[in-house]
Amino acid sequence: MNQAASLAPFAAPFAEPAGSPIRELFPYLSRPGMISLAGGYPSPSLFDGEGLAQAAQQALAQGASALQYGATEGLAELREALAQQARERGMQAASGDILVTTGSQQAFDLLVRVLVEPGDTVLVEVPAYPATLQALRLAQAHIVPVPMDEHGLQTGALADLLAELPADQRPKLLYTVPNFSNPRGTLLAAERRQALVRLALQYGFRVVEDDPYGELRFDDASGVPQAMPPTVRAVGEQLAPAGSNPVVYLSSLSKTVAPALRVGWMLADAALLRRCTVAKQTADLCTSPLTQMVAACYLNSGRYPATVQRARQEYQRRMLALVQGLSTGADSGIRCARPAGGMFVWAELDRRIDPQKLFDAAVVQGVIYVPGKAFYPADPDLHTLRMSFAAPEVPQIEQAVQRLRTAAQQAAG
Ligand code: PMP
Repeated sequence: MNQAASLAPFAAPFAEPAGSPIRELFPYLSRPGMISLAGGYPSPSLFDGEGLAQAAQQALAQGASALQYGATEGLAELREALAQQARERGMQAASGDILVTTGSQQAFDLLVRVLVEPGDTVLVEVPAYPATLQALRLAQAHIVPVPMDEHGLQTGALADLLAELPADQRPKLLYTVPNFSNPRGTLLAAERRQALVRLALQYGFRVVEDDPYGELRFDDASGVPQAMPPTVRAVGEQLAPAGSNPVVYLSSLSKTVAPALRVGWMLADAALLRRCTVAKQTADLCTSPLTQMVAACYLNSGRYPATVQRARQEYQRRMLALVQGLSTGADSGIRCARPAGGMFVWAELDRRIDPQKLFDAAVVQGVIYVPGKAFYPADPDLHTLRMSFAAPEVPQIEQAVQRLRTAAQQAAG
């Protein structure tokens, strides 16, 4: 018998790939009594089960169109409903400007495939959403971090960085979550949105505006929903010459309706949309027409605004339980700012606290969060962490705070 040749190797980016740092925390979640502040999971108690059941029934009653393959761009009914959402958020959009994707995660993956070649420079706000970093690493992009502060991405620092980058390292893309960022929870200041678009126009790169959280804005002190600055894409409409908006807008129904639908969307110019559609043809042909139809029936049922309203109020209560619990009374050593919306609180640890000891002690106490390391492309600030207040109910959050306080005491040197 001939000796078998060794199997051909994996493609270089997959030779020793690191998995998602958040998904790797999953084994801890099954421990009895564990309270998770880790994933960005919406609250199960906020799913509109009744409304979705009605939408599912309606979808199935459509017969073949919900059960057959569909157009790669998405179902016409859903594209129209999503274009309507875009218009309500102050952007110009017709159904033909929308690509429905399998979660907004896929939208970013398609953009990377269409735009980024190995070695290309991509600017990313840091701390960053880990799956974005993962997609860019797999694409062998040259990731350049842009620092953030409490008002989001620092456009002053970005201007300096761009001025210093050699011409052969001109960026293709900049990635940002301007509304209640993951993980920092920040809202990008209105003037920075303008500055960002001006820089994109000056240096010729696209901006990916990833916006799954923008509708989850909290009320201000007088109980009125706070006013939102225009989306970066809307600013692009104002500042760019007609037809050359550098901003691609991504959003999702995951955080407001249900992640299991896996319905995300992209609003972009025709040339980019066409290329992402071609890339999607080999990824999954089309997002499940059945869930697209459920999503369309749900959005057209008129129940969506009340569902979002409930989520906004409940998430604000949970956020306050977490932030006030950690910041009032005896010093916990865990410092965090109050986000104005979204699902996340970003915290900095007192330097006395050993971050690894804190994580281990927290697991023993029965609470889990995501250590900050996951959110940096390189040189992480280890004295940081992300907590999500979305999934646990208020009494659980109060218990999580007590457990974190105990763990922090144990981890203080
Ligand atoms: N972008 C950001 C910033 C996110 O936090 C998430 C989900 N955690 C996604 C994209 C992906 O969402 P989905 O694929 O469920 O639409």
